[in-house]
Amino acid sequence: MKNKNDIKKSINEIECNNNMGPNQDNSYSETIELINNFSNISVFLAYNANVDGIKFFKDGREVEELINHFDIEEIIETMEKYPRKIKSPVDFIARLIHCMENGKPAEIPIVEDESLNNWFNRIKYDEERIGGQVGIISNLLSLLNLKRIIAYTPLLSKKQSEMFNDSDNLLYPVVIDGKLFLKKPKEAYREEDPLKINRIFEYKQNLEFFLGEKKITTPHANRLIVASRPDKLRIEIGEDLKKKLPEIGEIVDCAILSGYQGIKERYSDGKDDHYYIKRAREDIDLLKRNKDIKIHLEFASIQSKRLRKMIVDNIIPKVDSLGMDETEIANVINVMGYGDFSNIILKNSRIEDVVYASKILLEEHDNLEIVQVHTLYYIMCLCRKDNLLSEGELEKTLDLATILAGTKAKLGKISNIEDLKEGAKIPYNKHEGIFKKVIRDLRKSPEYRDYKIALVPSRLVKNPKSTVGLGDTISSGAFIGYVSMLRDKIINKNNYG
Ligand code: AMP
Repeated sequence: MKNKNDIKKSINEIECNNNMGPNQDNSYSETIELINNFSNISVFLAYNANVDGIKFFKDGREVEELINHFDIEEIIETMEKYPRKIKSPVDFIARLIHCMENGKPAEIPIVEDESLNNWFNRIKYDEERIGGQVGIISNLLSLLNLKRIIAYTPLLSKKQSEMFNDSDNLLYPVVIDGKLFLKKPKEAYREEDPLKINRIFEYKQNLEFFLGEKKITTPHANRLIVASRPDKLRIEIGEDLKKKLPEIGEIVDCAILSGYQGIKERYSDGKDDHYYIKRAREDIDLLKRNKDIKIHLEFASIQSKRLRKMIVDNIIPKVDSLGMDETEIANVINVMGYGDFSNIILKNSRIEDVVYASKILLEEHDNLEIVQVHTLYYIMCLCRKDNLLSEGELEKTLDLATILAGTKAKLGKISNIEDLKEGAKIPYNKHEGIFKKVIRDLRKSPEYRDYKIALVPSRLVKNPKSTVGLGDTISSGAFIGYVSMLRDKIINKNNYG
């Protein structure tokens, strides 16, 4: 028998199924209702966090001051050599000027060298903040009332630990005398762990400076990232803690895994990417050993096709949920053998193609339950018809994601739940009408008879204060919303048949 709440819920479902997307006026209250339920959810996060040190070049004089430390001829010669690794300060300045001249983004690894590191440390950074998916997601979720976030990252230096929110629900797992303990990150750091720091050099459009006689004007705003890749950093869970993964699996409802893009092809001790991918698969089995928790893989941009294929072939077949952006799904489909279709997605950016690519993923991987893709203009997810959530409910989870992203873009960061009011005020972007039609047609098409499609337009902020980590914010918000709603559904089903 249904109780009053269930009937109210059913009415809600019917309304949401008929109208695409949640009613914008109700967005904030519905989001708060959804977030209130997060207090029953615990999540495990692994593997990547780092510190981002950001320097903004506000005018050309600042670039010239930096250039003055070097011999102009040497800079020009080095620019011609186009170093692919930063081995010295001149390699850096050469690549920075190159990047500024073209206005294109670049990320270059820095070799491990103490004096070079010290040189970079002497630069005055405008801002330092937590980076890496685990870093970004754990700080976000700690504000959203989750019961417990167990955030693991292989390295935990003092500085890194201090960048995690000091919140009672955000904990780092440690093993002492064979026992599992959960501690605040700032109480769990290891003195000997190196710091993974990405130095980010951002510049505006039309920044003007001279390199010797040559005047350079930046054609676009963009950034150069000097990425540290300490050899000691291995994307894995150490033996002691690995043994405790079944125990961790028992005390959480779900896990978000990310950071595989940081696996190198080979390490100084001869270990290679195959070794770490194999271990990553074992971690998932161990987490699920005692309880069938939902596992989300957050895909990231991966330059190496070899590594991307290894992740697609070995990790995707082990997870329940997959999140990524449009370029990433095209890249995933590419290594699955759909090269032409992948190019079409990248070229045309059509919703129909993104939905179809998601369907390919669900068809080829029975283990996958939900595929979520975000683009600048919308957030969508696809799952099978027998999913317990209705399309309207799925859209509520996606709407939460748009509010989180909109808030972060508008304010630069989310400091508390109240901030989400700002995100909820941002209207859906102007393509809402077209999206409604496309989704309505897709839902009617026989091709999707066995699927549920949910889509919510993004709440686009015109001049965002920050775009760093928006994708991770969207995916983790939508996934936790999904797990939370699913949990309620299962409890209700068990109670009322
Ligand atoms: P990613 O490509 O994974 O970093 O994800 C970026 C996502 O952030 C996009 O797909 C959009 O949904 C969202 N986003 C980017 N810029 C804005 C903006 N200015 N306002 C609101 N959302 C944005």
